[in-house]
Amino acid sequence: MSERFPDIDWWCDRCKAYLNSQIGFDDHRYTWKCTECGHKNSISRDNIYKSHEDYWHQNNESTGGKLMGIMDLLKQLADGVYDGERTDSEMNGVSSGFYIDKGTPVKYREGKSTKFFDGKENIRTPGKRTEERFVTDEEKTTFFQSYGFIRDMFGDHPEVLDYSRQYYEDKKKNK
Ligand SMILES: [Zn+2]
Repeated sequence: MSERFPDIDWWCDRCKAYLNSQIGFDDHRYTWKCTECGHKNSISRDNIYKSHEDYWHQNNESTGGKLMGIMDLLKQLADGVYDGERTDSEMNGVSSGFYIDKGTPVKYREGKSTKFFDGKENIRTPGKRTEERFVTDEEKTTFFQSYGFIRDMFGDHPEVLDYSRQYYEDKKKNK
């Protein structure tokens, strides 16, 4: 089956995950629920931008600042500049997000909590929590590249937004 929009890359409007590679993705659908964050993305011609740059210009004010290299970002991360930044979302009782814990980015997911009545009172059991920590410089670099665009998290740190944006633009060019 051919694609409805050949050669178009689709990205989640919320978490910016690359949708084309998600299991089951089919651009013949009119919406696609991101498997990363659960956001329902509209798959239509109106949602096609010429480039990431266009998209960003339309949706964010650009900082126009000088691009910081990864070494600068890693240093700032180690210095605690980004400590405490976080983003959380909840979907059908499942929460997930990212936060920076003393210089280490952490991605977490927490399942639905369950309730049951034991004959006397309701017992609440928290859902299973999983965490992925970005420990090595390589993992941290991947984190900045893949998730640095998240404005909830790095809105006060445009150098991170810019770095991630540049990464996605380069990736697109080299395809
Ligand atoms: Zn998403």
